[in-house]
Amino acid sequence: MTRRVLIEHGRILDGTGTEPFAGDLLIEGERIVAVGPEAASRVPAAEPLERIDANGLTVMPGLVDAHCHLTFDDAGSNPEIFHQRRHALSALVAAYNAGKLLRAGVTGIIDPDSVHECAVDLRDAIEAGLVEGPRMACGCYALIPGLGGTGGLLIADTGVTGYYKVVNGHDEIVAEVRRRPSPGADWIKVHVSGVAPRYASRGEQCSWSQAELDLICEVAHDLGVPVMGHCRGAESTYRAARAGMDLLFHATGMDQRALAEVIERRIPVCPSLTFQANVVDFGDRIGTDPSLVSLFEREIVDSAESLRRLHDAGVPLISGSESGFTVVPYGEWHFREMEVFVRYVGLTPLQAIRTATEHGAIALKLQGQIGVLAAGMLADVICVDGDPASDVTVLEPGRIRHVLLGGRPVDLGPLPPRKQIPGWRLPLMGARLSRAVAHGGPGPVR
Ligand SMILES: [Zn+2]
Repeated sequence: MTRRVLIEHGRILDGTGTEPFAGDLLIEGERIVAVGPEAASRVPAAEPLERIDANGLTVMPGLVDAHCHLTFDDAGSNPEIFHQRRHALSALVAAYNAGKLLRAGVTGIIDPDSVHECAVDLRDAIEAGLVEGPRMACGCYALIPGLGGTGGLLIADTGVTGYYKVVNGHDEIVAEVRRRPSPGADWIKVHVSGVAPRYASRGEQCSWSQAELDLICEVAHDLGVPVMGHCRGAESTYRAARAGMDLLFHATGMDQRALAEVIERRIPVCPSLTFQANVVDFGDRIGTDPSLVSLFEREIVDSAESLRRLHDAGVPLISGSESGFTVVPYGEWHFREMEVFVRYVGLTPLQAIRTATEHGAIALKLQGQIGVLAAGMLADVICVDGDPASDVTVLEPGRIRHVLLGGRPVDLGPLPPRKQIPGWRLPLMGARLSRAVAHGGPGPVR
């Protein structure tokens, strides 16, 4: 028998940027069948019906977080992800973390690149009903050339390190991109920019030629697989856009040329500034080096104007938290990018919410299926205590009262407590112990 759920007496925020309105929402099976004042009258008489009382709550689409690394497991450092992690255990841990996302109202994610490509296994396990988690679209290993990524010397010169795979030259690029559909990549992820410690003052540099990026996109698109690029800096953003990538992460430090190229091609941009914003606002509480705090603040402020111009030109901005690190742990900060869009980019709360609803669906390639509350859409729905249309921070996890995934209510009870896994984390030895510190000096010196 078809399951029917009526969410009644709430305020409907449909995810398109429209002002909220009073109304009910009727779900049959996995889809929404009616939204608005007349929804309740659509229930067939004498049919069983589950009712959710949303009095005082806002009923809205489940959040899409288009930048979430479920296998990183709230890592505190790159060495941990690159060298401490095992295949099967990474997938099992990612499954546990998926539960944290659901409890925070996240019903769809992109996992761009994952340790040992485990995200595709988790996605398939979720789709098969073995594990409960958000809808997922995944990349596999992130592609980098000899210089690439953000790990410097931690990354081996060839082959796989953690979530990276080094490819050099035409033949390796073609072979690796062609391999991706087999393990089930929804996306090809490319680290277009990278950093070398000796040249760190230049920031991240574009590490591919235009011809190489063109080749990646040509081979991937030929197979019907979209391409996404991690780009920091004007040159990498420009080349990625010109190559025809389908989604850009960060896109910070754009110049006029890069901006014009992204606008011309209307490539969705997921700036993922939550990591930086958390360090700027709370770095002093977690012991972040002050130089990093000012660096990140500059990155946000410098990017804000370009992001505003993208928005004004009709380029979809997409919400993504980059969860998976100690600074952005799972289940805590998925609303935060919307706050950044309001505070720094000057979007209205409704425009900011759209980056995690209707625009999030674009990122997941589920446009017209999720991200909007309308008849015919999949019933990924959350009920929030408060009015996100006036303050997006009410989307914090403690205020999510109900989550429905494909019409099925999710149990929001606490996850079982978790213990340490032997060898999983890199233990810190502590600050440098000079004899002065040992014998009553001024305190720890880093
Ligand atoms: Zn990332």
